[in-house]
Amino acid sequence: MKVYSPETIEETTKILGKLKGNVHLLAGGTDLVVKVKEGTVLPENLINIRKLPLDYIKEEGNQLRIGALTSIETIHRSKPIRTYAPILSDAAGKMGSPQIRNLATIGGNIANASPAADTVPPLFVLNAQIVLKDQKGSRVIPIEKFFSGPGENVMRRDEILMEITFRKCAQSDEWFFSKLGQRKALAISKVSLAFRGKVNQNRLTDVSIALGAVAPTVIYAQRTARFLESKTFDSALIDEASRIIQEEASPISDIRSTSEYRRRMVGALLKQGLWELKAGVSPD
Ligand SMILES: Cc1cc2nc3c(=O)[nH]c(=O)nc-3n(C[C@H](O)[C@H](O)[C@H](O)COP(=O)(O)OP(=O)(O)OC[C@H]3O[C@@H](n4cnc5c(N)ncnc54)[C@H](O)[C@@H]3O)c2cc1C
Repeated sequence: MKVYSPETIEETTKILGKLKGNVHLLAGGTDLVVKVKEGTVLPENLINIRKLPLDYIKEEGNQLRIGALTSIETIHRSKPIRTYAPILSDAAGKMGSPQIRNLATIGGNIANASPAADTVPPLFVLNAQIVLKDQKGSRVIPIEKFFSGPGENVMRRDEILMEITFRKCAQSDEWFFSKLGQRKALAISKVSLAFRGKVNQNRLTDVSIALGAVAPTVIYAQRTARFLESKTFDSALIDEASRIIQEEASPISDIRSTSEYRRRMVGALLKQGLWELKAGVSPD
């Protein structure tokens, strides 16, 4: 195996453009090193990208930009993220252990393309954009178009994931991120759900819901979101939304859970989140 340690983006994209055979980028290594140890990935070329200047969180007007090498712990603790994308900070705080969160990067969580990746459902409801770069230039892809299957994405082998951008959330946005794993901590999600919307005069508007680990990629629950839109926010609405979202999910059975359990839990997570939201918003 040949190992490269570039210090600039230009050097990295040049190496990526030249190399033949399989190439793997190493960020925090918390996914890649496990796969190499298991023998499911055998890199011919390994590019260690940890020296690249991609560890940042920047505010630009109404946009936030997060560099691909920003650690999950930094995202969890970041004041701008807590203020303008609290759902992402919350999901980051629910990932792995402190050791994992310090090593793991947001770029690695996205590029790894697991349907259970915890930062991805929040990034769906934030309408995030993914910035990729090769030797010739950059391209921007909406996050929901980035994934093509479990462990698969649309990045070409000569590209690097540079950053994630999205609009700051408004103060009036309501949100929740719920995740169900085998244990309370250090567990990969069996099911996860990100919700964002507004409550006006006891009606939900601007609803967006994303589901993790219930389909080959993270998906939007569009039918459920549409159903919730602009109707009276009462127990009948919550019950029916919980039924519809179970129809929308298409989970598989695997070592972590059965499809039936996952389907029911999607309904339960939505129901619980909506009840908590309803209890927390002051009647207007
Ligand atoms: C004990 C344990 C617990 C975990 N718990 C969770 C959890 O609760 N939730 C969760 O979502 N995940 C969890 N994970 C998985 C993992 O920690 C995350 O997916 C993490 O964010 C991966 O980031 P990384 O920097 O370590 O990626 P790496 O392992 O370095 O890379 C992962 C993949 O992405 C590619 N890649 C990385 N950066 C880039 C880039 N900038 N451009 C292009 N490609 C890139 C690599 O080539 C590789 O294919 C856990 C892992 C372990 C070992």
